[in-house]
Amino acid sequence: NGEMVTVAQLSGFSEKSFPLCMKQLYDVVLKEHHLKHWGRLQLGLFFKRLGLPMDEATKFWRSNFTKRPETDTSRFDKQYLYNIRHMYGQEGKRADYTPYSCMKVINSSVGPGDHHGCPFRHSDATPLRTKFVEAGVPPEGIKEILNLVEQKHYQIACQRYFEWTHDKLTIEGGVTHPNQYFIESRNVLT
Ligand code: SF4
Repeated sequence: NGEMVTVAQLSGFSEKSFPLCMKQLYDVVLKEHHLKHWGRLQLGLFFKRLGLPMDEATKFWRSNFTKRPETDTSRFDKQYLYNIRHMYGQEGKRADYTPYSCMKVINSSVGPGDHHGCPFRHSDATPLRTKFVEAGVPPEGIKEILNLVEQKHYQIACQRYFEWTHDKLTIEGGVTHPNQYFIESRNVLT
């Protein structure tokens, strides 16, 4: 921690080192050039803890959101800039907002069309299975993870997912925080 991260690094990080809850949000921003409030907060605070400075975060959200024809730069700045500055404690009561733990993400209320939350908790088995296949999890691993999901062991399912995508190395003590998942992944991969 304490290192600075740039927008250019995000896509590489997202492939192997973002937990599924953040990868899902990241992919939606890139594909749909939009994300609703709670998704922006979940991903934005994760980015902040990653070491993405406020100007880089602004660049990320602005460059993606303005790909929508109805959102030009001035509209973006009017609609979203305050929120980004707020996340970084530059507006309002200048609080240092902390990124969400797994418990908080798992317990978020998620409605139709929302992408935030924990995929192990909030996604159906079919889209989950697709994500596992894309990540190269073998059939035995997929079966194991979906069983854990069914028993509502979401964080253990996430830990198994980590193991299957990181050469069977594990996160000692289990997954408790998306940023912890990221740090553990980077430790293993670098
Ligand atoms: Fe994210 Fe935690 Fe769910 Fe894993 S268990 S996907 S890190 S919220």
